[in-house]
Amino acid sequence: MLDLANKTIDETRQGEAYQAETNGSQQYSKYFFIESYGCQMNFSDSEIIASILQGEGFGSTRNVEEADLIFLNTCSIREKAEQTVRKRLTEFKKIKKTNPGLLIGVLGCMAERLKSKLLEEEKLVDLVVGPDAYRTLPSLIEEAESGTKAVNVLLSREETYADISPVRINTNGISAFVSIMRGCNNMCAFCVVPFTRGRERSRDNISIVEECTSLFNEGYREVTLLGQNVDSYYWVDPQTNHAVDFAMLLEQVAQVSPLLRVRFSTSHPKDITDKVLHTMKKHHNICKYIHLPVQSGSNRILQLMNRTYTREWYLGRVNKIKEIMPDCAISSDIIAGFCTEEEQDHLDTLDIMRKTGYEYSYMFAYSERPGTLAARRYKDDVPDETKKRRLDEIVQLQNHLSLESNKKDIGKVFEVLIEGDSKRSKTQWMGRNSQYKVMVFDKTDPKQQPGTYVHVMALECTQGTMIGKIVEQPQLIEA
Ligand code: SAM
Ligand code: SF4
Repeated sequence: MLDLANKTIDETRQGEAYQAETNGSQQYSKYFFIESYGCQMNFSDSEIIASILQGEGFGSTRNVEEADLIFLNTCSIREKAEQTVRKRLTEFKKIKKTNPGLLIGVLGCMAERLKSKLLEEEKLVDLVVGPDAYRTLPSLIEEAESGTKAVNVLLSREETYADISPVRINTNGISAFVSIMRGCNNMCAFCVVPFTRGRERSRDNISIVEECTSLFNEGYREVTLLGQNVDSYYWVDPQTNHAVDFAMLLEQVAQVSPLLRVRFSTSHPKDITDKVLHTMKKHHNICKYIHLPVQSGSNRILQLMNRTYTREWYLGRVNKIKEIMPDCAISSDIIAGFCTEEEQDHLDTLDIMRKTGYEYSYMFAYSERPGTLAARRYKDDVPDETKKRRLDEIVQLQNHLSLESNKKDIGKVFEVLIEGDSKRSKTQWMGRNSQYKVMVFDKTDPKQQPGTYVHVMALECTQGTMIGKIVEQPQLIEA
């Protein structure tokens, strides 16, 4: 799950190796190892890939030495993300020497960006497969097994993998991600996603609601609806011509059960509607938390970034959120040192952070990506040390804002979904409130289990965690 607590970037899940849920009695002739990098969408795609491979009789392993196939599901969003993958590839050289039949595949955004060039640059790689080509993995594996390097980086206007039931991997059994759309039609000047993930397309609402219902029946208590720009979700039933927008989809998922929490990510400030906000308010189980990336607080930079809103529009949306749901938490993505950024632009970013009072932020130094609008039109002219200094100031301010926000919650009681033992002690639970804040508290009753809702009063806090105690025992809500 995303851990938003004031990190420049959440590195905790980067390169996470997956072990899929398997049927214990099944015998597999071959084993695959898959590691994921980048955004949550990639982690969710790895579950689709695992499902396709298991359907073909491949078992999953977390032991790279045991694998017949190694897959890296990659990210291209910043240069560093690609460097990490290249470094990881070199580590497989030794294993390939001892196991010459081993196949190595690069999947996802880096595969899409570099295409067959990747095969020339990384001799170790046998397969290059883009995000819309995972259904062809079995035939590509066959091709690679016969000694031919296999590439499929075709992007699709239709593929949503709607009919593939993802195999949940590395799951806590409580929270799951459900992909509701793919691709992106926004052309933010800095961003490589429209080139690596193709045109935006929405998945049909029926299969989404069915997936959420099965998750609930399996014991999951939280779903996060995923897309690059969820507010532009739009599905028209070809049979009835009935259209479903994001607010309607949210409502349908919320109605699966009042005990199923619903989250979503990411909202684009230009698209989030009052209808969505009113739907959130109407349903207790739609979490009061919106990830609303601002990127910059300067109108001049926002225009260069092609974000299509101004700081005034953004603050207007924030005010509307707070008016409709005063308890709603807001988080952001912020880029320091975009092309031509001056000190005043940076101060405008700090100012919009203070005015919004973000609970959390993902914060990045601008990294030029080949082929993007910015790379073609503008000079990456902010010196690295200036980018770093501005990023540090942004991180410092966010730390302060998060602590202030947590302090304001002391004494309040929250409904918390228990996710598991706290990291520090088996005598304590860790869970989150609706606002996505981590809460840690003593276990008090054997009836409490992961997946149970309890009421917790916040007593103390750090900038990343609220420490509390369970109150109102009789109101314990059974999972
Ligand atoms: N679609 C989402 C949105 O619009 O907010 C998220 C897209 S991207 C996977 C996540 C974040 O990475 C962006 O919001 C942006 O802050 C950051 N990002 C994208 N391209 C970047 C670049 N070239 N340099 C630094 N940060 C970048
Ligand atoms: Fe990238 Fe902008 Fe699309 Fe987000 S909305 S994926 S930042 S182009």
